[in-house]
Order: sequence, then C-alpha cells, then structure tokens
Amino acid sequence: MDPTIAATLGGAVGLVIGAVAVLAGRWSERSYADAPLPEDPPLPRGVGDVLSVLRSIAIVVDTSDAVVTSSAPAVTYGLVRRGELVHSEMRHLARQVRRDGVIREAELDLARGPSPDASVVMRVRVAPLGVSHILLLAEDHTHARRVEEVRRDFVANVSHELKTPVGGIALLAEAVLDAKDDPEAVARFAQRIQVESTRLGRLVQEIVDLSRLQVADTLHEPQLVELSAVVAEAVDRVRVAAEAKQIEVSAVAPEVRVFGDPDLLVTAVANLLTNAVNYSDASTRVGVGLRRVGETVEVAVTDQGQGIPGTEQERIFERFYRVDAARSRATGGTGLGLAIVKHICANHGGEVTVWSEEGRGSTFTMRLPVAVEPATDDTPAGTADDGVPAGTRGESTA
Ligand code: ADP
Repeated sequence: MDPTIAATLGGAVGLVIGAVAVLAGRWSERSYADAPLPEDPPLPRGVGDVLSVLRSIAIVVDTSDAVVTSSAPAVTYGLVRRGELVHSEMRHLARQVRRDGVIREAELDLARGPSPDASVVMRVRVAPLGVSHILLLAEDHTHARRVEEVRRDFVANVSHELKTPVGGIALLAEAVLDAKDDPEAVARFAQRIQVESTRLGRLVQEIVDLSRLQVADTLHEPQLVELSAVVAEAVDRVRVAAEAKQIEVSAVAPEVRVFGDPDLLVTAVANLLTNAVNYSDASTRVGVGLRRVGETVEVAVTDQGQGIPGTEQERIFERFYRVDAARSRATGGTGLGLAIVKHICANHGGEVTVWSEEGRGSTFTMRLPVAVEPATDDTPAGTADDGVPAGTRGESTA
C-alpha cells in the first residue's frame, strides 16, 4: 500500500478509537454517577488500626454517610452516635467533599447535647479517603476560643478602667501647673495624684494577678497549706484599715490544711476581709471563721455592713462589676477583688458563695477540699487522711 494512504488510514483509525474511548469514558462516568454504588469498597488497609489508637477525633464515613470507623474521642465528644454523624453540619461538609473531592476546613459550633447552651467549638478538616470514603478530622478549639474571648473582653474592660485614673492624674497635673503660685493647692492636688497613682498601681497589679489566674486553670505545684495561718495573715493585712474605722475583726481558725498556694489563699481571704471593712459602717464587727464540713473546709467572712441586693448577688463576682461604683471608687476598689477570689477558689478545686441581706450584712464563704495526706508509718493514728493534724486546735483573735 502506498505509504501516504497507509498513514492516512492509520490516522483515521486512531481518531475513531480515540473518540470511542472518550465516549466510553464519558458514558462510564455518567453511569458511575447515576447508578448507586453496589457496595462500598473496603477501607484502605490499616486505617481502622490507626484510628483505634488515635487520641484526636477522626471519623470515616461511607457513601451513605454511615460511620465506618472512628477514634474513641469521636464518640466521647458526642460527634458519633449509633454509627452515625450526630451533627448535620458535619454531614453537610462530608457531602460537599464527596461531590467535588475538594478538601474543606471549617470551625463549627456544635451542640454537646440537647441543651442549646452547651456547645463545643470544633476545627474540622474533611478530605476524600480512597474512592468512596470521607475522612473527618476534628480538634476541640473550645478552650482556645474561650481564652480568646476572655482576652478580648478583658482588654476592652481594662482599657476602660485604666482611662479613669490616668485621666484623673492628667487633669490633676494640669491643676498643679495652673496653681503653681498657691502652695496649699499644689499640696492638695499632689496628694490626690498620689491617691490616684496608688489606685492605678493596685489596678495594674490586680489585672496581672487575674489574667495569670484565668490562664492557669489549676495550680502547678500545690503545697500543703495551714489555713489558720492564712487567716491570721489576711487579718493582719486589713488591721490598719479596720482600726481606722474602729471595726473589730475577730477570727476563729482551727487548724485545717488544704493543698494550694499560700499567697493566693491569703489574697483571697484578705480581699473578702477588705470588702467587709470597706462596705461596713464604722464601729461594726467583722468575723472570719474556719469550719470543717466532711471533706470540705469553709472559710466564712461575715460583716454587719450595707449588704447586697439579691438581684446583684450573682453579678458581683464578674470582673469590674460594682453595685455602687461611686462607693467602690471612694474606698479605692478596683472591681476585681471578688473575681480574683472566685478564680483562686476555682483553681483550688473549690468555690465561693455569698449570703447577704440589705441593711443586715453579708457572709462570703469559700469552700475548699481538705488536704488528704498519704498515710505514712509515722503518721499518728486517726490523722492519716482527715487533714487535721494532731495537736491543739487553736483560736486566734485579731
Ligand atoms: P471592689 O473593688 O469594687 O470592692 P469587688 O470585686 O471586691 O470590687 O466587689 C464587687 C462589688 O461587690 C463591690 O463593688 C460592692 O458593690 C459589692 N461587695 C463586695 N463585698 C461586699 C460586702 N462585704 N458588702 C457589701 N457589698 C459588697
């Protein structure tokens, strides 16, 4: 055959074969898409084994969204129940990826149960796995989100709170300049600058304390702390302020130990005592008592002061919340004292509550777990785990 004809014929045959191949491919694609898969092919080897030891959340679903396998945390986090994805948001992502094969990432707020208030924030990554499976990986970002929200709120509040003393100092400095020929006025303004800057210093210190407490949920190296010593030191700290108002502070503090940070515990009790003195009239009484109730020790600070309206009692533990802002400012309050107490109690595995009646007074009670010390050979009998060491139970009065 003429070589030119042969080449032409060969080309034509090639074209036809190519066209048939393309058509066949298209047809097979269409029929693949139209027809339901008869059965999902098995998972790639080893996937199940890997997932069974994963500490993170991993879920594999098949073409009908049924969960083929998942890591244990997927169940404990409530993302998988009875072989199904619990949340429609996750199913939706899986379907999108199945449709176009494009890997997707999203941050989802997912309900933890029937209550709409309890939710988790999950950072989810969804990718195709083999021909017909979808892999969903999730990380719990709830804590990270909370920290970020707390940080944002905190920065907003702090800048607002700092503006007041800083603005006050600027105005007072201006007044000093204007009154430079009047030594008495200069002395008066300078004294007020001193008061404002002391307040500013305390505010900054409390902001630092509180942000440290908020970041660390638990204590790092708790020590065995004798609470009666904590109470004695806290009472010492408010002595001068109490005496200035002829307020008698009495303490009843038997020896009870807790695990914790002694400085933080003194700060907490001193904050409660400072408030008791600040929000009480002159010549009243303030008391602090320690009492063991089962495995808990209660530290109660009681005053005969103005009291707190019922509607405000929940809110006073919030940062910068004050019932009477003018009075708080007049006493040098920062609005952070009770928020600090609340965090210190939480970090020690305890809580703080308030009982109060307007005009009658208030009692703030810190409840902390009593230290359970490991029994040793030389531990006197009966004191191995009751947290109350042998010896006299003291009573101290300030
Ligand atoms: P502050 O620095 O303003 O005292 P706190 O966080 O310590 O801030 O207290 C918040 C608010 O709770 C106070 O401003 C005050 O209105 C109220 N409060 C706290 N303790 C007492 C108390 N013992 N008696 C009456 N009111 C109190």
